[in-house]
Amino acid sequence: MVKDKKDEEETMSEEKIKGSCLCGQVNYRVTGKMSDIVHCHCITCRKAHGSAFSSVAAVNDRDFSVTSAEPLSSYESSPGKTRYFCANCGTQIYAKREEKNHLILRLGSLDTDIVAKEKHHIWVSQKAQWYSINSHLPECSEFE
Ligand SMILES: [Zn+2]
Ligand SMILES: [Zn+2]
Repeated sequence: MVKDKKDEEETMSEEKIKGSCLCGQVNYRVTGKMSDIVHCHCITCRKAHGSAFSSVAAVNDRDFSVTSAEPLSSYESSPGKTRYFCANCGTQIYAKREEKNHLILRLGSLDTDIVAKEKHHIWVSQKAQWYSINSHLPECSEFE
């Protein structure tokens, strides 16, 4: 019996990762590999996300696509680094430095499970005073 072609493509494709914003206006897909997960405690991540830290991972530009029609809003939070978010509900989707060929995905917006593993906490020198890191992961004072 000939195997259905569509089934075969499903099994052979790489990890299928999907994400979206709070209101559903933004939907995206990741088709390639994702880096290890980093928890960033820097002050700009704290402000942008309104939380103690932001959990992120790098994805190659070519492996990321926004599948919804509405353009994202953006804000250049530090020179050359732009944060992209839903224009309607404000969910942070990714950040990018224009000269790089990858983007930094904001993992709180994921809808599917991922295989990437947590790596470490960064910018612990800027951590919220009221938050205690209780993990076995390495802690970096600044970037790495
Ligand atoms: Zn939204
Ligand atoms: Zn940060």
